[in-house]
Amino acid sequence: MTTAFQARATGGLWVCLDGVWVCVDPGPGALAHARGRALGLDPSVLDAIVLTHKHLDHSGDVNAMIEAMTQGGTKKRGRVLAPQDAYEEDPVILRYVRSYPASTELLVPGGRYVIGGDDGLVLETPLQLKHPVETYGLRFVGRQWTVGLVSCTGYMPEIETALRADLLILNVVYRDPRDEIHLAMPDARQLIGAMQPRLAILTHFGLTMLRARPWELAETLTRETGIRVLAARDRWRLDLDAELGADGQPPA
Ligand SMILES: [Zn+2]
Ligand SMILES: [Zn+2]
Repeated sequence: MTTAFQARATGGLWVCLDGVWVCVDPGPGALAHARGRALGLDPSVLDAIVLTHKHLDHSGDVNAMIEAMTQGGTKKRGRVLAPQDAYEEDPVILRYVRSYPASTELLVPGGRYVIGGDDGLVLETPLQLKHPVETYGLRFVGRQWTVGLVSCTGYMPEIETALRADLLILNVVYRDPRDEIHLAMPDARQLIGAMQPRLAILTHFGLTMLRARPWELAETLTRETGIRVLAARDRWRLDLDAELGADGQPPA
């Protein structure tokens, strides 16, 4: 219901590592938020658009974002990477925009994609997650930092080894466990404790999370795990060097 009420923005996230720009899960409103004054992001510099899965809250603006990345389809550039079912029956990536980017590609289990030139950013999709449609956890491997995204999924122990990263982003939908296809707070506690990132960020909140004040839940997790945990905010910019420490060292 968070999407329907727009209780939180559903614009997904942008990753910029080593000068390579990737837009992940552009949900409803993503393009307007990116272009808005608070963020001022320019889709025409994107090297890739990635969908973790086809659900509307992750893909609602994918066609608009592809158009923007390719300057209305006038510049053949950028890559689109998505699970196979995002292209097939009831496709969320419209057929007529597929000729705009330089390539449209499939995410597969164990996939490895080099984005932005031969020594560019590496995107790994080590693991298919537990969700009703084909869904992947993402791992971005930069020269200095790795960023892991545990997208929508039920808890799986395999996540703990597959998606280890300096910055770990987790889609935590429920405060209390409710189903087998989304993370709840106890799952987040288990994953963060086991994976020991430098920084963990909780996002993708359902209404039970929002009512419980995500920033307070994040503080509780910090105390319980000894790992710094933050709750994501709309239109938030995070400077990895500042947050994770320059030169691979933690901040003094
Ligand atoms: Zn989903
Ligand atoms: Zn979702």
